[in-house]
Amino acid sequence: MSTLQLFIDSTFCDAENGETTPIEYPADGSIHTRAAEASSKDAERAIAAARKEFDYGKWRQTTVGERGEILRKVASRLLAEKDTIARLETLDTGKTLAECEMDVDDVASVFNYYADQASATIGRVVDPSTPGVSSRTITEPVGVCVLITPWNYPLLQASWKVAPALLAGNSIILKPSELTPSTTHYLVKILVEEGVEPAAVQLLLGAGSNIGPTLTESPDVDMVSFTGGLETGRSIMKSASGTVKRVALELGGKNPNVIFADADLPAAIDNALTAIFLDSGQVCSAGARLIVEESIRQEVVDELVRRAQQIRVGDPFDQETETGALISAGHREKVHSYVQRAVEQGAKLLCGGQVPEGAGYFYPPTILDECDQTMDCVHDESFGPVLTVETFDGGSEAEREANAIAIANDTIYGLAGAVWTADASRAERVARQLRHGTIWINDYHPYVPQAEWGGMKQSGNGRELGPTGLAEYLEIKHIWHNIQPAKAGWFADPDNS
Ligand code: NDP
Repeated sequence: MSTLQLFIDSTFCDAENGETTPIEYPADGSIHTRAAEASSKDAERAIAAARKEFDYGKWRQTTVGERGEILRKVASRLLAEKDTIARLETLDTGKTLAECEMDVDDVASVFNYYADQASATIGRVVDPSTPGVSSRTITEPVGVCVLITPWNYPLLQASWKVAPALLAGNSIILKPSELTPSTTHYLVKILVEEGVEPAAVQLLLGAGSNIGPTLTESPDVDMVSFTGGLETGRSIMKSASGTVKRVALELGGKNPNVIFADADLPAAIDNALTAIFLDSGQVCSAGARLIVEESIRQEVVDELVRRAQQIRVGDPFDQETETGALISAGHREKVHSYVQRAVEQGAKLLCGGQVPEGAGYFYPPTILDECDQTMDCVHDESFGPVLTVETFDGGSEAEREANAIAIANDTIYGLAGAVWTADASRAERVARQLRHGTIWINDYHPYVPQAEWGGMKQSGNGRELGPTGLAEYLEIKHIWHNIQPAKAGWFADPDNS
């Protein structure tokens, strides 16, 4: 069986202590490959190589146009090798092959989008009216950027960081989840084969808890961009604080999906299923909290249950399968105990909620009714196929609207949410009052690389994608150039007056 190697100092290599970890196929629990298990010594070596490249190397000296062209070639390679990459992603994640193929398309779009940004104007003239002075801002790469990604969308999350970081001219150290290293490893090969300066890319595989602190505390690292869970995000922020490095965090979500009684119900219900059950709920923006107007609650819930019970969960490589496995045995256990706790706290289990027999970490679409804001299931991220249902009501239209907004905002998270209504004015009002980074009106899940993605409150800081997603990887410098130098004249010079 092959072993995925680290990439340090322009060379694919084993971990210094020779350790490797098995990588499981979550749909049957078999081991499909192994990956080198980096130690903190490997992490130190990667930091040193990245630092050397950034301070003295070639990548940041290439023009932004050249870097953009390389990103475009990377996008073409990804599309040309989509079948292989999607297959690897399915083996690592247990997601359906169809979804992984779509992910590769999205990844290529991200590389193409940032390739296009190479022609965007960077920097500006400041105060052109001061005589004899050229005053302007310019942008520069931040430096050595550690990019840490989760297991749910391994290649897509990597692309949101890698493409802008490389376009900006940074040196990167990639650290995918220990559970899903294959496609990030593949991406690194493509990056260097298509012309990215090899010394500007380091790849570390293995457990984040082993090498994370070495990466985030190091004074030689200038930035950490992290996507993952809230607790890990908090600990990264703490360990990065010692060197006041730039930290960008994309964390979890507990996303409200609000349906008003006047909504197009067939569309709202169908999308409510996709909102939560796509990729078995392992999506940071999953619409996990259904908040429905009381008068239509029964109709909506009955239809959701009918449809949820028909979702085809199974073999990710079977074209008939609609959603695959959860990532690991441990994660399934976490999701199941979350459902059990919800029932203990008074939620009504309408469907799912049972661990199926047989191999693989599957879990059925699960709906919990009669939930309220006091329950853990409404506040905590399950990151599984579990929908909680709450209702809102009130004596007047305005009161009902206010109640819906209050429930939707009653969470420490603020990543994404949706509102369903036929009333365009209400849709705008609600969208503007929801404190979440992305709001869909009469839709759920679409995103485009041109629009920023990220969270408010404890869903994180900063933004990925769009122009802001590039700005995250740039420093701004003001250069004041006095073309006609003259004395400042502030301090008196009595000897020469
Ligand atoms: P984790 O926080 O467990 O892990 C994320 C990454 O951090 C992994 O690469 C992990 O490595 C690494 N890591 C773990 N400990 C440390 C440490 N001390 N220092 C540095 N790195 C560390 O998240 P999951 O992988 O479980 O991903 C699921 C979470 O990601 C969910 O909460 C989800 O909402 C969130 N997410 C957010 C998105 C967004 O856009 N806001 C998008 C996608 C997911 P290892 O796996 O090896 O432990």
